[in-house]
Amino acid sequence: MSDMLIKGGRVIDPASRRDGVFDVLIKGSVVAQISKSIRTRNVTTIPAKGMIVCPGLVDLHCHLRDPGRPDKETIETGSQAAVAGGFTTICCMPNTDPPVDNEGIVQYINKEAARVDLCRVFPIGCITKQRQGETLTEFGELIKAGVKGFSDDGDEVANGNVLRRALEYSRAFNVPIFEHPIDRYCAQNGVMHEGLVSTRLGLHGSPAIAEEICVARDLLLARFTRARLHLCHISTKEGVALIRRAKEDGISVTCETCPQYLCFTDKMLESYNTNCKVNPPLRSEEDRLAVIEGLRDGTIDCIATDHAPHCLAEKELEITQAPFGMIGFETALPMIISELIGKQKLSWLHVLHAMTIKPAEILGVEFGKLQKGAIADIPIFDPQRSWKITSSTLRSRSRNTPLLNKQVTGRVTYVIVNGVVKYELSE
Ligand SMILES: [Zn+2]
Repeated sequence: MSDMLIKGGRVIDPASRRDGVFDVLIKGSVVAQISKSIRTRNVTTIPAKGMIVCPGLVDLHCHLRDPGRPDKETIETGSQAAVAGGFTTICCMPNTDPPVDNEGIVQYINKEAARVDLCRVFPIGCITKQRQGETLTEFGELIKAGVKGFSDDGDEVANGNVLRRALEYSRAFNVPIFEHPIDRYCAQNGVMHEGLVSTRLGLHGSPAIAEEICVARDLLLARFTRARLHLCHISTKEGVALIRRAKEDGISVTCETCPQYLCFTDKMLESYNTNCKVNPPLRSEEDRLAVIEGLRDGTIDCIATDHAPHCLAEKELEITQAPFGMIGFETALPMIISELIGKQKLSWLHVLHAMTIKPAEILGVEFGKLQKGAIADIPIFDPQRSWKITSSTLRSRSRNTPLLNKQVTGRVTYVIVNGVVKYELSE
């Protein structure tokens, strides 16, 4: 493999707070040098003027539907979509069919990810066998096979005693428990956020309190067990406030939100577009602003995609019947650019901190840095390039995003993983 020189890009490394125009030299699989002007022979030069060059994005939360639903996504198509969006490390949630509750399935995912060989894929294991919420899985065996955390995502662990035991068990391995904090009894399988808009549309709502109740209980259990709790897809004002207080109290909690909760509100459901049906639901404007504030003040640690592919036939069902979820890998950067960067709510250093070094720290992996000696996982993207998201630009096998056929800004042009170009924009 030949050495590579990324020339003249805006290099942003949140871990070292670097933000400026530099050249980056890659030798083999590592970053050999970052300086103002590097002159060297026998390298492949990638011109990057006007581009952002940063550590590979790390996604703590996606659904690859593999094994089980190759009509929606596979590890192969999901990895293609991930690199096209600038992600070089992704964590896939275990609510597959069969679920990731034993070593055999973890080994399958590892083998398939290695065969595809595009981005790093870290499986998250089930907290309970068959995701039934009753019997804990064998954490030690699953960790040995390669899982980086545990979750029954798609469902909360409804039984407080089971979650207590899971948190206690996880301490022995120092891995996080990723909780999907939505109280199923309060949520009542609501189609959208419960509020003025749901009332006007006559749609059954899932109230903010469904998230808040579960967040509050989970935080109490985290304090009680002193284990590492990671709360997934935080979407409500009071959810953010509870986590802020818990952090002030020294509880060991981290959390994520997703681009859709930073950018969209329940008003999007007025079109009855089933691609806006997600879980947790798109909330009110007040919630959205509180989530942005939570990200700004560090209460929210990470931005994860919750990439949730679904086939057209299912998303074409009536809104009450259609499944929850939208795809996220290829829309994350454009959404963040339009809402946070474009409107000058947060800096690139801040946003990328939540998408690189912070999630890497939560996973306990060495990635998420762009420094001398670091593994060369590097996306290059043009933050000003305008393009249209269409069926033919999407690498995901699914198309379920409200941004389909919309003009957006910000496009990934190159992605390097482990020193090798794994994606190159071909137009
Ligand atoms: Zn979830």
